[in-house]
Amino acid sequence: EMGHVADPELLLERREHVLAEVQEHYYQHPPQMERGWREYLMDTNGRVYLDMVNNVSSVGHAHPRVVKAAANQMRLLNTNSRFNYHAITEYAEMITETLPPELDTVFFVNSGSEAVDLALRLAMAYTSRPDIVCMRESYHGWTYASDAVSTSIADNPNALSTRPDWIHTVDAANSYRGIHRGVDAVKYGPEAVKVIEGIGKPLAGFISESYFGNAGGVALPDGYLKQVYAAVRAQGGLAIADEVQVGFGRLGEWFWGFHQQGVIPDIVAVAKSIGGGHPIGAVITSREIANRYRTQGYFFSSTGGSPVSSEIGKAILGIIKDEGLQENALKVGSHLKQRLQALSENYPIVGRVHGSGLYLGLEFIRDTETLEPATEETEAICNRLLELGVIMQPTGDYQNVLKIKPPLVITQESADYFVDMLEHVLKTGY
Ligand code: PMP
Repeated sequence: EMGHVADPELLLERREHVLAEVQEHYYQHPPQMERGWREYLMDTNGRVYLDMVNNVSSVGHAHPRVVKAAANQMRLLNTNSRFNYHAITEYAEMITETLPPELDTVFFVNSGSEAVDLALRLAMAYTSRPDIVCMRESYHGWTYASDAVSTSIADNPNALSTRPDWIHTVDAANSYRGIHRGVDAVKYGPEAVKVIEGIGKPLAGFISESYFGNAGGVALPDGYLKQVYAAVRAQGGLAIADEVQVGFGRLGEWFWGFHQQGVIPDIVAVAKSIGGGHPIGAVITSREIANRYRTQGYFFSSTGGSPVSSEIGKAILGIIKDEGLQENALKVGSHLKQRLQALSENYPIVGRVHGSGLYLGLEFIRDTETLEPATEETEAICNRLLELGVIMQPTGDYQNVLKIKPPLVITQESADYFVDMLEHVLKTGY
C-alpha cells in the first residue's frame, strides 16, 4: 500500500530511505501535513497548526483564486513557454508595473536559485567580466553560481576549496552582531567600497539581499546600498538585488526591499512568494542589459513562465493588491513587533526583534554583552511551540533567530496567539 500513510514516523522513515540525507526537513519529529487554509496547516490527525514561517505561501494556503486559476489553465493548456499565449505577457506586464520604469524587461524561470544564477550571468554578459562581490553570511541558492555567492555556513574546507575564484566577499553588514554594532554600523558601507575598489580589476557586479534576510531580517545600515552600488557602477559593474525573500509586499512599508535603501538595482531576482508554492522565479532588468544576453547564446526556460505558472502568478499578484496584503503586513506586522519587543523586558534571552512588516526575526542570546547565541534554546523553544500548535523555525548562521514570516493574510488574533504561546513557553520552560 503506497498511498496515503497516516503515520508521520513511518512516512519519515520512507522519506529518509529515498531522499538525499542533505535534503532537509523541518523538525526531528514533524507532523504529517495534509492540507492548508489561510495561515493554518492541518495534519493527518486533523490537528491545526498556526504557520508562522511560510514566506512561500504569502497569499495563504489553498487560496481559492489561485486554485481556480491553476485548474482552469491546466484544463486549457500548459506547455513550453516558447509558444505565444496571453498569460506570460500579461503577467510580465503586471510585474513591471510594480517596479521603477527602467526595470522593464522580464525573464521567467522556476526558482530563486535559477533567478539568482541568471542575474549573475546577465551581469557577466553585460560587462564581459566574471568577478562578483557578495556579502558574507548570505544565502542565494543551490545552483552553481547562486551557491558560489552563498557564503552562509559554508566555511567547511570542502566548500571553500571548490569556491570559484571570481567570488569576492564583503563583511556581513549586520548592525546587531556583526563586527560593527549599533552606531558603528555606518562603517560597513565605506569598508565594502574599499574592498570593491581594492580588487584590482573591474567587477561584473555586486549581489546582496536588499534587506538582510539570512541574519533574521536585519535592515542594512542607512545608505549602505547607495554607497556600494555607486562604487560598483563607477567601475561599469551592475547592482543585483536578491528580493526572493524580502520583496513583494512582505516588508509592509515597502513593496520591494530596495525601496527601503532608496536605491534602484540594475537587476532584480524574485521567487518564492510570487508563486505561492508553485515554482515561479523571475529576473527583471533593463532592456539594454537583457539584450546583451544574446552574446551568451539562447535563453529559454521550458517551463519558466508556462501558461499555468503565469496564471498562478497573475492570481497571486492580483490577490496581494485586491486584498491589501502589503497593508496587512504593515498593520499586523507592527502590532506583532511591538508585542515581541515587550517580551524583551521580562525575558533576558530575547536579544533583539529585527525586521519590518511580516518579515521579523527574534534573536535569542545567552549574554547581553557577548551576544552568545542561544542556539540549543532556540531549537527547544521551536519544539515546544510545535506542541502548542505553532509552526516556528530557527534561522541565521547560529540558528538562534526565530524566523517570523507568516502568510501575509494572517489576522491579528493569530499573531496574538503566537505571542501568547511564545510567552507561555518562555515563562514555563523549554
Ligand atoms: N535567495 C534567497 C534570499 C533565498 O532565501 C532563497 C531560498 N531560501 C533563494 C535565493 C533560493 O531560492 P529557491 O529555494 O527557490 O531556489
